[in-house]
Amino acid sequence: MIIVLKPHTSKEDVAVVERGVVDLGYEPHTIWGEVLTVVAAVGDETTHASLQALLSLPMVDKVMPVQRPYRLISRETHPESTVVEVGDCRIGGDVFHVIAGPCSVESREQTVNTALGVKAQGATLLRGGAFKPRTSPYDFRGLGQEGLDILVEARRETGLPIVTEVLKETDVDRVAAAADVLQIGARNALNYALLEVVAATGMPILLKRGLAATVEEWLLAAEYIVKSGNPNVMLCERGIRTYETATRNTLDVSAVAIAKQESRLPVIVDPSHAAGRCDLLIPLSKAAIAAGADGLMIEVHEHPEAALSDGAQQVTPEVFGSILREIEPFVRTAGKRLAVSPGGGGAA
Ligand code: PEP
Ligand code: MN
Repeated sequence: MIIVLKPHTSKEDVAVVERGVVDLGYEPHTIWGEVLTVVAAVGDETTHASLQALLSLPMVDKVMPVQRPYRLISRETHPESTVVEVGDCRIGGDVFHVIAGPCSVESREQTVNTALGVKAQGATLLRGGAFKPRTSPYDFRGLGQEGLDILVEARRETGLPIVTEVLKETDVDRVAAAADVLQIGARNALNYALLEVVAATGMPILLKRGLAATVEEWLLAAEYIVKSGNPNVMLCERGIRTYETATRNTLDVSAVAIAKQESRLPVIVDPSHAAGRCDLLIPLSKAAIAAGADGLMIEVHEHPEAALSDGAQQVTPEVFGSILREIEPFVRTAGKRLAVSPGGGGAA
């Protein structure tokens, strides 16, 4: 931390600041200037009290961090990219994985048919919500436990690992018993108590970015999980709330590039929830790949026109397959290889 003092601070006042730095457990190194003096405080902010408290001293102008606040996930501390293993899928390396499946698990037939369809087209993980966070309490909120049982059956039928959302702490055990990846949705992305409970499962976590979370808040949420002892975190950019109304959210492509640069964690992009409309899936997927994404999550339904949630943004398994074929050269250009589902199809 660098503590910048106000212009012409007296020697006596500099000594007061130095004592404050020592009292908080840091070592002060003062750099004297004609007008501005700064005190560099050497010590680990993650294990000591925050130096921000010194801002209450009248002679202190600024207290500026020099290290990233997300130490465990940062590339600065760990240059190697993290690869998260889910079954046979290694996410975050040179293979580009696509998670696909319905927004909601609606029935056994709808889920298993869609799962078989996306596998045949090349998806390597299956998504589907059993517990749905809905804006209106009158909307379909998922089948709950029955939905989890259907997902287990879909995995038995296809072999695809399951990605599904957990909404609350008291559901973590049963969702963990059914799923291969626990999804934390945008609405819960800063629910730190829930993050610690999902972390304790040790399972891979797909952490969506909050609707209005800054990149730093998103990365610090991931830091919570890793700090709790679970290194298996994948970040998911799913669009943020802006003034734009042409799309449901605004896909923040810069955040993908920054998350790749700043953190060592895999980054997945969800163009379905970003756009809210299926005609933008190809361009947004290409943009995500160009920005460095390690994979995509796309909503697919056997009959989007009859979907109980997010119908406008879901595509059929056939359209999903055509999207994969269209993006495959872009994945290659980005230096990665599109994954092929074992026993299924694939564009690669
Ligand atoms: C979802 O992926 O099912 C979902 C609800 O997305 P988000 O949390 O990004 O809105
Ligand atoms: Mn959805």
